[in-house]
Amino acid sequence: MTVTADFVVAGGGHNSLITAAYLARAGYDVVVLDARSEVGGGAATEEILTPGFLFDTCSTGHTLIQVNPVISKDELRLVGEFGLSYVEPDPVGHVVFPDGESFTMWLDVERTVEEISRFSASDAVAYRNMLEEFDQVKGVYSSYRFTPIGYGPSLDDALSAHPAGTVWRRRNVMSAWEVIRREFESRHVQAFMTWMAFQTAQPLDSPGSGYLAYSLVGGRQSRSWSVPVGGSASLPRALTAALEAFGGSIVTDTLVTALITEGGRCVGVEAEEGEQYRARVGVVSSIHVKTLVDMAPSELWGDDFLYGVDTYDEGLSSFASYYAMTEAPRFISSRGESVAAVSAGPAPWPEDVLEFGRGLRERRLHRPGTFLLFATPTLVDETRAPEGGHTLKILSLAPYECPDDLGGDWATGKDVLAAEHFGALLDCAPNLSEDHVLARNAKSPVDIEAGNPHMWRGTIHGGDRGLAYGGPQRPVPGWASHRMPIEGLYQTGATTHPGGSITGGPGRNAAIVILDDLGMSLDSMVAKGGSE
Ligand SMILES: Cc1cc2nc3c(=O)[nH]c(=O)nc-3n(C[C@H](O)[C@H](O)[C@H](O)COP(=O)(O)OP(=O)(O)OC[C@H]3O[C@@H](n4cnc5c(N)ncnc54)[C@H](O)[C@@H]3O)c2cc1C
Repeated sequence: MTVTADFVVAGGGHNSLITAAYLARAGYDVVVLDARSEVGGGAATEEILTPGFLFDTCSTGHTLIQVNPVISKDELRLVGEFGLSYVEPDPVGHVVFPDGESFTMWLDVERTVEEISRFSASDAVAYRNMLEEFDQVKGVYSSYRFTPIGYGPSLDDALSAHPAGTVWRRRNVMSAWEVIRREFESRHVQAFMTWMAFQTAQPLDSPGSGYLAYSLVGGRQSRSWSVPVGGSASLPRALTAALEAFGGSIVTDTLVTALITEGGRCVGVEAEEGEQYRARVGVVSSIHVKTLVDMAPSELWGDDFLYGVDTYDEGLSSFASYYAMTEAPRFISSRGESVAAVSAGPAPWPEDVLEFGRGLRERRLHRPGTFLLFATPTLVDETRAPEGGHTLKILSLAPYECPDDLGGDWATGKDVLAAEHFGALLDCAPNLSEDHVLARNAKSPVDIEAGNPHMWRGTIHGGDRGLAYGGPQRPVPGWASHRMPIEGLYQTGATTHPGGSITGGPGRNAAIVILDDLGMSLDSMVAKGGSE
């Protein structure tokens, strides 16, 4: 069987759906292929345990995409026409420290500052300063993230042109931990800041992670952990509706296994059963670059590109467990009141978090530093569970190869590790016991990869985001502008700038480049209302 379209898009995560929707809106005939039975990749909501309990099996918080013009200007009419909406949970988050003290972050800055001042008056001032300083430069960062590499100044140049540029150019190459330990004196406040900064799984001592010390709290303080009503899959559902309204189509259950090349040009893809999808204009991929290079002859990629992919760091792998609950976790606030938060967790001491991050690279779990995020979106969206019920996801990190002290095999080791994580939840949430669990499930890094080959080796952000693999280095220096070495082939998704998470940045940036190659400006096309 052969299908022909202007553009064939391999992989239907939210990024490639965004690229596809812009291309379709510009008047191109687009077909999106995905290996799974539903598109959306890491933006998925699934009934995995018991009827009526709809779990965000991957992402829950969509904070980062809120400043992407896809949402902020509603360029694809996802909000205005195709049913996408968000809630901003308050409190934003709650953490419990190893000594039993706790901390609640509120959308109201004053309330958060009050919590900080319980630990240190000077840290309360530092927190306020941090937010103010971040406010001044956040526009520079978001403009950089939502502009394709090569289409605007480098981040260093953009910061140089800013009045506070000297300070931020230094912060930009520091590590998150270097920033946090300089700005805050209290061990508790440092622990809270490291818990927040670690949420994108970037090691906190990696050069270039300094920005995360600001961006995570800055973003959450503005709009919380934005949660899509109906679940994470509401985003790809709205994108699907937009794509189809613009004339595009989707084919699911189709694993792409090879690129079709003719005369050195990529002219389509081949799927597992031998079906061919041929492209008149171009092919867009969000297949992980580590496997993409095996899908065409090596001479077409060239040695430099292959070297870049070979040395591209996969990043840290994730581990997740899921619980259908009869009650949501409730914690004890600093005032002794019962508090529930969509996003919560234990916040280990910073030195343990750093050691936990290092251990992951060495197939070792430094348990006192375990990063855990308890996500309970049903607290703000009751459409996802039967009355009174809650979906709880515990997100953590673990080595791809199962550590020996968990038996060396994830098939059994995952239940042992998930039980440890649930035990940590019970330590933090006194209202809960095993009796509140209706059903449970755990996914090791190996399971995460098996469910989505783009999450290569169980890494969920398309690869490390340190200095060597970000911006103009992502995925490979010289090929960061979405154009791949094989003519006719473009890359989007988390392995491209600005990387993983639900940002839509790689998706929109790729569309800008592709339309530019076709002599069209994305901005003018949107302003004109597409090709309609
Ligand atoms: C447990 C967990 C929790 C997370 N929590 C958050 C969170 O709260 N907030 C956040 O911002 N991010 C979170 N993430 C990360 C986020 O989900 C990803 O970074 C994001 O989904 C990347 O989007 P993408 O569009 O680049 O690719 P993906 O979402 O990975 O989509 C890629 C798509 O391509 C398809 N595909 C891959 N290879 C092929 C092939 N060969 N042929 C056909 N189809 C293919 C896949 O089936 C998939 O649908 C989480 C991830 C996990 C696993």
